Amino acid sequence: MPKPLVIGNWKMHGSRRVIGQLLDDIRELGRDVRLDVVVCPPFVYLAEVAGRVGESGLKLGAQHLSEYPEGAYTGEIGAAMLVDVGCEYVLVGHSERRALFNESDEQVMRQCAQALRGGLTPVLCIGEDARQHAAGDTWAVLERQLTTAGLLSRLGQQDRLHEVVIAYEPIWAIGTGVAADPDDVQAVHHRIRAALGEQGSAVRILYGGSVSAASAGRLTAQPDVDGVLVGSASLRAKEFAAICDSAAVVGWKH
Ligand code: PEP
Repeated sequence: MPKPLVIGNWKMHGSRRVIGQLLDDIRELGRDVRLDVVVCPPFVYLAEVAGRVGESGLKLGAQHLSEYPEGAYTGEIGAAMLVDVGCEYVLVGHSERRALFNESDEQVMRQCAQALRGGLTPVLCIGEDARQHAAGDTWAVLERQLTTAGLLSRLGQQDRLHEVVIAYEPIWAIGTGVAADPDDVQAVHHRIRAALGEQGSAVRILYGGSVSAASAGRLTAQPDVDGVLVGSASLRAKEFAAICDSAAVVGWKH
């Protein structure tokens, strides 16, 4: 049975000292058997974080992976390397990577497939921007981004759909301090789950975008919200712990 999932995306923040202190402060969260807690540090700290996390139960994720398995791809990191240093999860298609590094839906699909092949759980990030939101195009955008599921079927991996985590992250809510309305989030998540078909009930669908200790309770209480992807608040130990607690108390709902 899947558990609620809370992921901290540390983005390009921290240093060995800062991350060491943060880990000391949040290590205990991994002992909560009611949920899975994942931290995604910058690449260069992954191995060190894996060592420091030890047997605490905290899980490790990467923020990105290559669409290629290995080879002459300077600067890239492959799925097998991530597994080798202790990663279990990897973010794919984060809106910052799509917007700032021009990652296309096709690339995101290939990354997703590499993650699955390599034994990582891909966390597929999807979401509409402010203009698309205002134009009422939210579902059209999400449907296009969700064609990743179509890729899985082309690869004969449709039966592994339940291994993919989906993170609905409306771009207009990321980094603004104001999360989307929980009722609106629920409506979108419900539609995503329906679009996933038979395996939908086993897929964890997270919300991301300015989640805070104040907003996490109402968001995670929604029937189709199985956890949260947290950016800036994941760098504040007490706030991250409060968010994890909100997800833990509601448990698995499907
Ligand atoms: C994110 O970038 O994935 C994110 C959710 O950021 P924030 O929580 O800071 O809005």
